[in-house]
Amino acid sequence: MADIVVLSKQLAELIAAGEVVERPASVIKELVENSIDAKADKITVEIQRGGSIYMRVTDNGSGIKKDDVKKAFLRHATSKIKSESDLYSIATLGFRGEALASVSAVARVELITKTKDEETGTRYVIEGGEEKLFEETGCPEGTTIIVRDLFYNTPARMKFLKKDATEATAVGSIIDAIALSHPEISLKFIKDGKLTLNTQGDGSLKSAIYTVLGREFASSLVPVDTETNGIRVSGMLCKPIYARPTRSGQYFFLNNRLIRSAAASKALDTAYKNSIMVGKFPAGVINIELPFDRVDVNVHPAKTEVRFSDEKAVFEAVYYAAKNALEAGDTRPELKLNTTVNYPKPTPKPFERMTTQEFRNKFSDDKPKTLAEEIYVDPKPVSNRLSDFPKPIIKPENTFVTQGEQTTIQAEFEVQKADIKTKVEEIVEFSVNDKKSEEQSVTYIGEAFKTYIIAQQGESIFLIDKHAAHERILFEKLKKEKTPEIQRLLSAEAVSLSRQEKDALLDNTDLLLKAGFEVEEFGSNSVLVRAIPSALSKKDVNLVVGEIASSLLSTGKAETEMMDDLYHSVACRAAVKAGNLQSSLELQKLASEVLLNEDIKYCPHGRPVAFEIKLSEIEKQFGRKQ
Ligand code: ADP
Ligand code: MG
Repeated sequence: MADIVVLSKQLAELIAAGEVVERPASVIKELVENSIDAKADKITVEIQRGGSIYMRVTDNGSGIKKDDVKKAFLRHATSKIKSESDLYSIATLGFRGEALASVSAVARVELITKTKDEETGTRYVIEGGEEKLFEETGCPEGTTIIVRDLFYNTPARMKFLKKDATEATAVGSIIDAIALSHPEISLKFIKDGKLTLNTQGDGSLKSAIYTVLGREFASSLVPVDTETNGIRVSGMLCKPIYARPTRSGQYFFLNNRLIRSAAASKALDTAYKNSIMVGKFPAGVINIELPFDRVDVNVHPAKTEVRFSDEKAVFEAVYYAAKNALEAGDTRPELKLNTTVNYPKPTPKPFERMTTQEFRNKFSDDKPKTLAEEIYVDPKPVSNRLSDFPKPIIKPENTFVTQGEQTTIQAEFEVQKADIKTKVEEIVEFSVNDKKSEEQSVTYIGEAFKTYIIAQQGESIFLIDKHAAHERILFEKLKKEKTPEIQRLLSAEAVSLSRQEKDALLDNTDLLLKAGFEVEEFGSNSVLVRAIPSALSKKDVNLVVGEIASSLLSTGKAETEMMDDLYHSVACRAAVKAGNLQSSLELQKLASEVLLNEDIKYCPHGRPVAFEIKLSEIEKQFGRKQ
């Protein structure tokens, strides 16, 4: 083994810097948090090319005294902690006096700062940890820090940076979070020369939400403010019907700092559980306030995942706060049942049609054979066996039925001179359809509450949710279409979105086109929609495009899944556009489509399309049968 040497100061700095500075977003987070600690109420963040070549944070905070400037860049130099007890009592998180030291170790940093008591300000330039300039300068009160060429001296780290757009999005998320947790600060974000976010700083959470997350979101909120177990939970949550397809709309803050907390997320899910659809997530901005000695502060400064000394207490506090808010604020009528219904997960089709080949595969040699099976199992060309066995004819009423794992044949075979192979395939197809129309024909009984179709099929009565069924059928239709039917809008429609959502849309214009949407960039917080699928009407544009944007935001989805999400959104709106189906002929048709198609069990959002009430159950209830 080689000799042990003590690393040079510079190398040690680089290693330490790696802990705090992962990417431009982590630099911005540290710098803006410093500005907030310095009591700034106006902060401007500017980045170029995702931040890797240029980042600037300007604030109107306290500034740094000339004598302290160099100290601020030393590792473990901080004005915020003086003793060990401060570690547990400070109202801030993760201070180690490391940010400026770390950033200046891996970039070219320029600081311009002035306190209100000083006549002149200070300009300090430090590159790769080495001082390059220290001079007096004229400047306004507050601090500007410019960080250029991040990782210029650590090429290995530079390689880990993602595309500029991705890094910019990460910075954007940090900025959004800060804007949401500090409505009292006016925050500007300039990306590649364009102002993309500008919050009022008027202290209202609602106005911060409006700016960051968009109008639609802001209009659907209920206020939250409850204290449980000495933990105050406040903020805004969306009503259940505005739940989102991903968790991207969830922001948790601990004493105003962005955190991730498994306990808090779980609590929200649980509070919304019976009010939202499968696959949808609550959204909102939640601040958790509790004494710092109840948080495990030993979390990494750059990481946001937080552990609480009493996770259960936090869970309960968030849960009750959300529950209270929803009960008070969500006026949507709720159907309450005595017993909870657990919707089954979509199961394999209980009844399925088989081709001859599939049928052959099902019957392996080790199963007992009937005469008919023997014929099909034989891998030899059919013609070779014809002399040994009588040729079968399959009657129209014959069916192959698969029930779970088990397959049964309902078929009779007779001797006939014909080509078995083609005959079988043709007739199998026919026999199944025929069986359906004979035994499973659907009788329309009526409509209840203008919402539910009542229909009878076989030995059961079905309650069908008209809208859910319609939606699902439209969804299947959209999915099948090769080229979508589109309509060009006479005047293009502008849709305002959060910046993240806008970026997500513009990154996926090809998928959108496939689904029938033509979308282009329009200003900092909106897109222009030029064409939409014919199934939609113009007044839907805002809602649908907003929904699509937020579903595209979650990364890591396969393209087909994203397309499905797009079709869901369109089908949902299109079903509304088509209005309530009213004539009994339409309803009869819908009922048949649903009940004769085993694939249609759930609406695209996962709600069941139909409930079954078995005749045997009814007879039991009436005491006709045990
Ligand atoms: P920490 O924030 O943990 O104290 P930093 O390295 O981020 O460590 O900052 C070191 C010190 O520099 C801070 O404690 C603070 O005194 C000073 N400082 C940094 N940024 C600013 C700013 N924008 N305005 C005023 N003071 C600042
Ligand atoms: Mg700091």
